[in-house]
Amino acid sequence: MLNVLEQLPAGLLEREAHELHQVLAGPTLVHLPGRRAEPLLVTVLLHGNESTGWLALRALLGRYRDRTLPRSLSLLIGNVAAARHGLRRIEGQPDYNRIWSGDGMPEHAMARQVVNEMAVRRVFASVDVHNNTGFNPHYACVNRLDHRFLHLATLFSRTVVYFIRPETVQSLAMAELCPAVTLECGQPGQTHGTEHALEYLDACLHLAELPTHPVSEHDIDLFHTVAVVKVPEQTSFGFEPAASDIWFAPDLDHLNFRELPAGTVLGWVRDGGEGCLDVSDETGRPVCERYFALRDGEIRTVTPVMPSMFTLDQRVIRQDCLGYLMERYSVPRAHHEGQAEVLAPGVRQVQSTS
Ligand SMILES: [Zn+2]
Repeated sequence: MLNVLEQLPAGLLEREAHELHQVLAGPTLVHLPGRRAEPLLVTVLLHGNESTGWLALRALLGRYRDRTLPRSLSLLIGNVAAARHGLRRIEGQPDYNRIWSGDGMPEHAMARQVVNEMAVRRVFASVDVHNNTGFNPHYACVNRLDHRFLHLATLFSRTVVYFIRPETVQSLAMAELCPAVTLECGQPGQTHGTEHALEYLDACLHLAELPTHPVSEHDIDLFHTVAVVKVPEQTSFGFEPAASDIWFAPDLDHLNFRELPAGTVLGWVRDGGEGCLDVSDETGRPVCERYFALRDGEIRTVTPVMPSMFTLDQRVIRQDCLGYLMERYSVPRAHHEGQAEVLAPGVRQVQSTS
């Protein structure tokens, strides 16, 4: 199902994300030559409604229309069909950022083919561009505490999130081959998100190599994801005091990336309601009590935490989750061949990508 091309199809750069289906039959990988042979892989639209990556890539390619690229560039344009309808994915499709390990669907084979193609071409680095729905800063995610990965991440933002679940995301598959990051560029449709991604991608094209020395502690705020928060399926919820079982603070997403003290109120529970949230760690163990308590109808934190990707989008909350909980992490120092020192035992990580 993957189209592989060696040049840009005519008219591609004139298309908006929802028009790409007019020139692309489906997921498409395009290899373009540049002065340095090992390509930068840029992936966009794994989620069809997250258009910032495409807008940035299109602008980047426009810059080099009549010039040689400083480095070869491979671009993967992911879920063209979902982008047509402005959806994360179409009903019946798997999530295109959950197909990068495992088997059983044509999309798994497609993802494997991309990885194989990029291995043959000795990929230099991989950047997968996303948006999210809540109020979040721009940040990069890494799946390895390797200094080359952290350099690639801090080139985008000093805020960096480390996670290793789920194992099915693109950046984790590419991490086997090269430094890889997932970019979170805020909400779709924001000009400064597109411009930030554009300048970042151009900077990546100009990198001769990624340093293996440690990133300075002054240059990075590193977090790791410790829990995912969901609303149980049978529980009704909203953002206004109403007939629902739970209602959350209307500015819940403004808590993202803020270090919350114990006792912070996130929401309220209907009289006589249980109001239990579904909070799990990376192994899927329920850990609600570790983070939240219900007192006098209020859902309060019981330990200092930092949320990320808390969203007000009710469909996202139902389909995916309310958000994640993170803890601050100190920068690894020791390194061998760019590989950072091993995590302290007992450290927990969960998924943290849109
Ligand atoms: Zn996404």
